[in-house]
Amino acid sequence: MRDYTLLCPQMSPIHFALFDVTFAWRGHNVVVLSEVDRGAIEDGLRYVNNDACYPAIVVCGQLIQALKSGKYDLNRTGVLISQTCGGCRSTNYRALLELALRRSGFGSVKVLPFNVNVAKSGGRTLAGQFDVDIAFVRKLLITVLYGDLLLLLSNRCRPYEVISGSTDGLLSSWVSKLREIILHDKKHSISKCMFEIVSDFELLELNETVLRPKVGVVGEILVKYHPDANRDLVKTIEQEGGEAVVPGILDFTLYCLSSDLHKKPYADVSFFAGLKSKLAIWIIEKYRNKIRYAMRNSKRFEPPKNFYTLIEKARKVISTCNQTGEGWLLTAEMVELIEDGCPNIVCVQPFGCLPNHITGKGVFKELRSRYPIANITTIDYDAGTTEVNQLNRIKLMMSVAKKNLTTKK
Ligand code: SF4
Repeated sequence: MRDYTLLCPQMSPIHFALFDVTFAWRGHNVVVLSEVDRGAIEDGLRYVNNDACYPAIVVCGQLIQALKSGKYDLNRTGVLISQTCGGCRSTNYRALLELALRRSGFGSVKVLPFNVNVAKSGGRTLAGQFDVDIAFVRKLLITVLYGDLLLLLSNRCRPYEVISGSTDGLLSSWVSKLREIILHDKKHSISKCMFEIVSDFELLELNETVLRPKVGVVGEILVKYHPDANRDLVKTIEQEGGEAVVPGILDFTLYCLSSDLHKKPYADVSFFAGLKSKLAIWIIEKYRNKIRYAMRNSKRFEPPKNFYTLIEKARKVISTCNQTGEGWLLTAEMVELIEDGCPNIVCVQPFGCLPNHITGKGVFKELRSRYPIANITTIDYDAGTTEVNQLNRIKLMMSVAKKNLTTKK
């Protein structure tokens, strides 16, 4: 596929700002589509069955809009789409997208599914389409780690910055540096880079005398990270006087990789499948230790927890065999946030998303009885929901959060 332009739908702007160079390092021309405007959503609604989930409409609409733009040679253009091999959209996207492409007159455009389980399969899931090997999988993993680190640091600093725009300035300067490093620096030291990133954010001038409640953002992966899909939720939280805490993407990858471990006592899962999951998690956690090490002396930043801690947190409330959609991970992230002093949570879901309503909304009652301080609100997103309704819910949650903060003081 080296002579193709591969279009990739946006999901998380910080992470995806590094993905195209990771593919470029392997000689692939990947174009990450930047924004989702109303036109893209209209295209999604026109060509995807309108009872499909909102993320499917957003992603397919964005790709069709790009193909319609006339910027790409259709004989040499493919579209990348992620799959997780679960029971939901992430798995069935390919069929939905192929149908939408046929309906919109782009049936000849190649669809390339990108499987999250690429790490567990040692790259085999992409074989035949990309030049995938351990080095490429490793590079992808490092990209996600950098993305998670920058997401964590920037969200922690931005609400308190003394010089307006200094956090985003530092963020984009590091994104540019990392793009160069990923593409050209053959011997780059991940630990050194992470240490320098953390040090730079440590030095940002902040005014932490301002009292701001922390607000966790959890939910369906696309509406959780994509500012155009969630109407810039992080910015709204900050404008309302809070500090957004958004858990990283790596835990979602680990969640997908760990599915065999949870099924083992109940289903016919081979010894080697379980072993492969454990090995993949072990290797990824080894890499994530570099973030923990870079933050070891920080008073400002909290390093990410070990994935097995997250599993244990979920098990207090729900079975980890809930593996459709964001499954048990959604519950685990809420428990982790509450136990770590962030009881205010916005749980974002596409309208009508059944699995995440079970492991999200469905556990609210239990969470509130275990943690009376929990202040959780749920927000549904789809092409037709009004902004006023969503904003009112956030404002209501924020007023309780601020009241709780003052009482605590
Ligand atoms: S998790 Fe929810 S939004 Fe995502 S594909 Fe499944 S039902 Fe749809």
